[in-house]
Amino acid sequence: MSTHEQGPSSGGTVIPTAPPNPPCPTCERRMVVRQVMPVLLAFGVDDVIYGCEKCGTEIKQTIKRP
Ligand SMILES: [Zn+2]
Repeated sequence: MSTHEQGPSSGGTVIPTAPPNPPCPTCERRMVVRQVMPVLLAFGVDDVIYGCEKCGTEIKQTIKRP
């Protein structure tokens, strides 16, 4: 319906399309992507599950697709 507008945002930092994998909250080791699931309730949004190869901790992050 509405056009894609670029309003003035109070940040300045442009988020890249593919954010780097987050570090493990337990051992701070870089996590790997285990699973990507599209969110049905929000179009253009994915739930990404990251897992740590060292301690096995898993976290889920919601990432917007461009
Ligand atoms: Zn870990």
